[in-house]
Amino acid sequence: MPLTRLVLASNNAGKLKELQAMLGSQIEVLPQKQFTDQEADEIGLSFVENAILKARHAARASGLPALADDSGLAVDALGGAPGIYSARYADGAGDAANNRKLLAALDGLPDEQRGAQFICALALVRHADDPLPILCEGHWRGRILHAPRGDQGFGYDPLFWVPETECSSAELPAEQKNRLSHRARAMVLLRQRLGLA
Ligand code: IMP
Repeated sequence: MPLTRLVLASNNAGKLKELQAMLGSQIEVLPQKQFTDQEADEIGLSFVENAILKARHAARASGLPALADDSGLAVDALGGAPGIYSARYADGAGDAANNRKLLAALDGLPDEQRGAQFICALALVRHADDPLPILCEGHWRGRILHAPRGDQGFGYDPLFWVPETECSSAELPAEQKNRLSHRARAMVLLRQRLGLA
């Protein structure tokens, strides 16, 4: 059966905006908050596990198919941290505090040791107990700047240097980020799987 409506399993305004723009008009997209104020417990040890947990939570609350993104920043010099803990890196103090903590952790490291990648896992479940979620992932390599640049996007965007455009991801217009990012790459694969490409 073709997918005509789904719930986006996130309350992160930045992500919602990007995912909505990428899904286009072929699918009616409903935000999770229309059905529940409760967040899923992100107790998985991987992006994929957490994406599935979030998708099941939204599908259960809404009775509709649900799409979840679990994503984060993996910094080479920090052994892949903050990784799945990216949103809570500074103990829930928010994006600016996360960025300050990251800059402090990399203090003194030269550019060649500041490699990093954004990672996105998308999980789509047709219903809450779907035994075979559709899974797609995307990666975006760059490096961590020494100070924030730009005011677009969200999260770690002001610290993420994008080699192909020679600016930070917070300096990219939304349309450009939505073509290049980890989320965009995962979404291209998802659209192919759904026959929307
Ligand atoms: P999640 O909501 O648990 O998946 O956490 C995702 C976190 O990863 C966000 O709160 C950001 O800190 C970070 N993140 C994911 N994608 C991006 C992005 O596109 N730009 C900047 N930060 C991102």
